[in-house]
Amino acid sequence: MNESFEEVVRAFLGDEEQLHLFDDLTKVNPVTTTTVLKCLQARYTVNSFYTNAGCSLVALNPFQPISCLYSPELMREYHAAVRPQDLKPHIFAVAEEAYRNVQSQIDPINQSIIVSGESGAGKTWTSRCLMKFYASVAASATSPKGNEAVERIEKRVLDSNPIMEAFGNACTLRNNNSSRFGKYIQLHLDRFHHLRSASIQTFLLEKTRVAYQAPNERNFHIFYQITKGATAEERLAWNLPEGADYRWLPNAERNLEEDCFEVTRDAMFHLGIDHSTQNNIFKVLSGLLHLGNIQFSDPVDESQPCELEDKAKDSVKTAGDLLKIPIEELLESLRIRTITAGKQQQVFKKPCSRSECDTRRDCLAKVIYAKLFEWLVLVINESIYADTSLWTSFIGLLDVYGFEAFPENNLEQLCINYANEKLQQHFVAHYLKAQQEEYASEGLQWSFINYQDNQSCLDLIEGNPLSIFSLLNEECRLNRSSNPDLFQTRIEKALSDNQCLSRDKFSKKPNFIISHYAGKVCYQLAAMVEKNKDPIPPELVHVLQNSKDALLQKLFPIAENHQNNTKMQNRAAVVTVVSKFKSSLENLMQILNSTKPHYIRCIKPNADCKAMTFRKEEVLSQLQACGIVEAITISAAGFPIRISFQSFADRYEILRKSRRSSKNSACDKSNFHTAKKEATNDCGMVKNTALSPTINCRLIFPTQLEQLE
Ligand code: ADP
Ligand code: MG
Repeated sequence: MNESFEEVVRAFLGDEEQLHLFDDLTKVNPVTTTTVLKCLQARYTVNSFYTNAGCSLVALNPFQPISCLYSPELMREYHAAVRPQDLKPHIFAVAEEAYRNVQSQIDPINQSIIVSGESGAGKTWTSRCLMKFYASVAASATSPKGNEAVERIEKRVLDSNPIMEAFGNACTLRNNNSSRFGKYIQLHLDRFHHLRSASIQTFLLEKTRVAYQAPNERNFHIFYQITKGATAEERLAWNLPEGADYRWLPNAERNLEEDCFEVTRDAMFHLGIDHSTQNNIFKVLSGLLHLGNIQFSDPVDESQPCELEDKAKDSVKTAGDLLKIPIEELLESLRIRTITAGKQQQVFKKPCSRSECDTRRDCLAKVIYAKLFEWLVLVINESIYADTSLWTSFIGLLDVYGFEAFPENNLEQLCINYANEKLQQHFVAHYLKAQQEEYASEGLQWSFINYQDNQSCLDLIEGNPLSIFSLLNEECRLNRSSNPDLFQTRIEKALSDNQCLSRDKFSKKPNFIISHYAGKVCYQLAAMVEKNKDPIPPELVHVLQNSKDALLQKLFPIAENHQNNTKMQNRAAVVTVVSKFKSSLENLMQILNSTKPHYIRCIKPNADCKAMTFRKEEVLSQLQACGIVEAITISAAGFPIRISFQSFADRYEILRKSRRSSKNSACDKSNFHTAKKEATNDCGMVKNTALSPTINCRLIFPTQLEQLE
């Protein structure tokens, strides 16, 4: 009778070989990172890729197609189950739970599924599967307004994926199909819980990739699709002769399944982008490829504009033709800066240096591509969005880049990691805090776990009045000539009180280190202010506004009068990258805070994207980065299972009877053991408690057990 709780649990668990049977990490005993890792590894080996971790679902990337894992039959099984959470852990169980929450009308009705993880972990794959699940179980009743010519809403929603991926994804070192933007998609349901409408919000497209690709990486898929998939006629029209070389199209010899032009075109067509608009888009993209081939050389005389190599002359002509910008105007905008000065507002023209010309060329491509992407999202939204009167609730799917820490980090990583800090805070607020507070309100005694509150890290990044963001914006506002050393001193002086800030003293380059919840990251200050300003030379805007191309005219409309225009540009200059990002993220957080969250944590079992390879160290750092380790500890220390009073009474009634008589009767004693095992099975995570199941029960339902007595 005196066996310890651990012994009983071990008896129940059997040996380590049984570890894969644990479908919830909070049930592993004792819960340590070692046992959790062992459990995940054991499950990975037997093709169990999903495991619960309290209220989150951990998803291991199999890196190989697993038959039937996402089949329509399986979708139906989870949808039809009386208790989907009793089936094997799966993203469909999460999806179904969110769907049922919507139906049960309990506040908050709206749901969000937050899919996180590092690049290549499987976020986009998961989001796609979730969308397919809802397209199937919440299929709309009829085609829109009885119009057979318009694709049904679920088809259009699914078709948004290949378009967004063609224009927003690229092959990187870490993922052949890496999303270079964040995405929040809302699936709107009507009162019959059918899909009626949807909307997509995107974040921070990595537009630099148009003009710069790191070694062994590629540009956005769409460029490869057009160069590989265009017909002979299109090649002629878009000036893309077979076998031509483009500086901005590296690693074109690698063929990926993502290079399928036909799929993108079909999807665009289904979403109402007609062939002529498509042609226009691809022509502009071809123009960008030719723009990339323009290379400048230093002029003999410095008072003269940079020169063009012979080959580049052809490229200017082709780019100008495709973008419908007169060649002279294009060249002038790239090579000559216009300065307005003095009381008389005199206009001076000054030739740009070679590197300035390069920057301008890249900037032109980036601004066109970013606007095109923005416009595409708008067009997609127009095609999938229905008036709010037609739907009553929504399920949101968030697919955003996970925490990033590279050897060199800059503004992009700062924004991404800031977003992850925000999401972690959301996770903490909704899960860890809620759980602790609930125990406190029920008067349950247990030792509070110290969870890491990341508020001071967020204060450091975005706080008022002084933070990294505010200082960055000040540099931009005052138009200080960017001196990273001076900026470093300013940061240190202003924010030295914050414990999350430090510096890599061994590095000669100006930098600062932020201690994020997921680890320390060192950010380089060189070019950070410039990146935050993200300036667009007015000459480039002007030349785009004067293009004769229908699409470019749409993307860069001429403001109604010139005065307005200048004012608008001045105002636009104040909106920095971080301010824009912060406000779009705040908007997202507001939406998330008004919904019931569900978390799916995608894990990449190895950095080589190999099937059936599980590397513990790599997995562990990801579990830490997504806050799972902390969550597991909290869940395990608390009472993760809540049984309704009725089912509790039904199940353990026998205990009460057997306890009374167990001292006397051998038969009852075995009864008692059976019941005790069952209770351990159900409540086994009440760790280190004296063994009496009644005590366990008391801890769970202190008041209700009295009713039972
Ligand atoms: P992320 O969006 O997190 O960067 P992806 O969703 O693009 O990662 O996944 C990267 C790759 O991993 C996919 O292209 C696919 O090959 C593979 N993958 C991800 N999830 C699964 C899965 N559940 N089953 C099979 N392969 C997967
Ligand atoms: Mg992705």
